[in-house]
Amino acid sequence: MRLKNKLALVTGGGRGIGRAIALALANDGASVGVAARTLHQVEQVADEIKRETQSESLALACDVSDPESVLRMFADVTGKFGIGVSILVNNAGIAESAPLIKTDDDLWLRHLTINLNGTFYCTRAALPAMLEEGWGRIINIASIAGKAGAPYIAAYAASKHGVLGLTSSAALEVAAKGITVNAICPGYVDTEMTSRALEHIKAKTGRPTAETLEAIKNISAQKRLITVEEVAALALLLASDEGRGINGQAISIDGGTVR
Ligand code: NDP
Repeated sequence: MRLKNKLALVTGGGRGIGRAIALALANDGASVGVAARTLHQVEQVADEIKRETQSESLALACDVSDPESVLRMFADVTGKFGIGVSILVNNAGIAESAPLIKTDDDLWLRHLTINLNGTFYCTRAALPAMLEEGWGRIINIASIAGKAGAPYIAAYAASKHGVLGLTSSAALEVAAKGITVNAICPGYVDTEMTSRALEHIKAKTGRPTAETLEAIKNISAQKRLITVEEVAALALLLASDEGRGINGQAISIDGGTVR
């Protein structure tokens, strides 16, 4: 129960990586606000936390690309628990692919506004309470696509490269104030996002899903998908006091392919 008396907020907590991180933080004693646009999914995760851990939780409907929605989310979660958010996990994100010349303005802007602006809005909203407390953890779920580009994902890769720039700058700005800001850069993780990518490739190319899955696994030096639990375990370390020396890093968790 290392995180007892801490309030955590996990964006994109309704499924996949965010759900696993929310559960891991709650298991270690944190009260957890679970946020996404689809209310019934975050309600399910908040209920799961109450049922399966000794921690409190709150489901929050929020679109991180909307700064007013972000401010309402922070007001609601701090109002409910009466303390500031001291662990922020910027996990909400989307991933769509298209050849660059078929990447329209909407697809491009969707990635930047959700993946990058959303991370910025939440970080800006979280910092005042962390600075006042003299303790804080910001964990940005970026991607190996934040370090290395790949064909057909220019919008996604640009947004995640931006998240890494935001991470290292914010980390230096608050380094002496008891706050750390880090990014986790997973390779392909076994979630709905990856399943949707496989379906998309099948629809566009007719390539069987099993074949594309093998190709995706082969991108990893370990020839496998990462699990959500592996990402959650790293997030837990970064959230803990033991992780306090790790700051401004972009840690790959991809089996050793991208440095
Ligand atoms: P999922 O699609 O399974 O979950 C994404 C979560 O983000 C959902 O809860 C979704 O809920 C939420 N979300 C999306 N858009 C918004 C928004 N505008 N406002 C608030 N919440 C939003 O994806 P994963 O769990 O796989 O991915 C989580 C993060 O990890 C993402 O940032 C992704 O880029 C990153 N990542 C994933 C990898 C993978 O292979 N899966 C690899 C590397 C990084 P809703 O739609 O209801 O809002």
